[in-house]
Amino acid sequence: MTSKVYWGSPRQTFLQPNETLPAKLDLILDALNLRDRVKGEMVCLKLHLGNNISYSVIHPVFIRKVVQAIKDGGGKPFISDVSWDVHACEERGYTAEVLGCPIYPAAGPGDHYAYPHEWEYKNLKTWMVAGMIEDATFMVDFAHIKGHPATGFGGCFKNIALGCMTGKTRGQMHDVQHYDRYWFKELCADEEVRQQIVDSCPTGALVFDKNDRSELHLHFDPCNMCMRCQQVAPQGALKIDPVNFAAFQEACAISTAITMDTFAKEKVTHLALATHMTPVCDCFGFTSMPILADAGIFGSDDIVAIDKAVLDVTGRSALIKENVPTCMEVISKPVHPFAQLHGEYKDPYQVVRYGEQLGLGSLDYELVDVFPVQEKGPQPMGYYISAE
Ligand code: SF4
Repeated sequence: MTSKVYWGSPRQTFLQPNETLPAKLDLILDALNLRDRVKGEMVCLKLHLGNNISYSVIHPVFIRKVVQAIKDGGGKPFISDVSWDVHACEERGYTAEVLGCPIYPAAGPGDHYAYPHEWEYKNLKTWMVAGMIEDATFMVDFAHIKGHPATGFGGCFKNIALGCMTGKTRGQMHDVQHYDRYWFKELCADEEVRQQIVDSCPTGALVFDKNDRSELHLHFDPCNMCMRCQQVAPQGALKIDPVNFAAFQEACAISTAITMDTFAKEKVTHLALATHMTPVCDCFGFTSMPILADAGIFGSDDIVAIDKAVLDVTGRSALIKENVPTCMEVISKPVHPFAQLHGEYKDPYQVVRYGEQLGLGSLDYELVDVFPVQEKGPQPMGYYISAE
């Protein structure tokens, strides 16, 4: 089935406020019929509130519009994110007064308020869905799009997958990458060679075990599959294998499925703002230069379709290499720009493919431009501030 994804281009024809992204968000909220769907609902607006001094997170101008639409429709909105991002979020401009509704840590200030759900996947069995999320009757999943060192990119899936579970479950989700064995010490008995393997990695992804130097650990986030380690490791001793990298993406799809299953099917909708997209997640607590051209704002009831559309639209741009932090390596392969930055095994499309397999939505979508740009030659520009 083809799903609709509503899209507001970041480009304008004229210099007019009604062509800017907050105004296009209003059109998307209308297209999603948000006001008509939230009467009497306790609506969780799931955001990523960033951390420390990050400033590329979603601007309050956008958030207030969603909050107001929920209130207009007779819903009771609250904003939620993981406790460590809600903590001190006022330092990034997020207060109840500014945003228009309360802001709650998803699993309470101590990260203990949660409901267990059973789903066996590698090392994971019990997944803890944050209590404030599960108690809500409607969810607006509003993601800021950015790169991510484990998944290639962060979008609507990641906003739910990581942001609606407790910290303990999030940690276990990251550990799934280590579930399938990748270091075979019996094939590398020589300590000197093990040291050469560790030294070969320019990103510091390989480390010795603290207690046993015959064991090596791979930190998957900084690994970009450059394969330098494979030139010094004995054959088969160290596997840089897609299965380990894909495991986290599959865990994200499962986590999202578990959380979304706590809502009735029509009681979740998704928004994505693809502006100032940085190399890594907003969790890092800082904002670096954008690595892709702004791609606009998106809205859909289908989480698979919206993240697929975001990836397709962002994939039309080339990576802005001169904005990439100089400690990072750009891989010259014909893959999505996020994978050029984080490695080809972190294919950002994996999470949406897993999501479709779990029945969360459709990869087949129609992109509906809510305010098409017109190709115009030079002419009066429209709105301007008079010089009087
Ligand atoms: S493939 Fe990964 S672990 Fe190996 S050298 Fe490159 S970045 Fe390091």
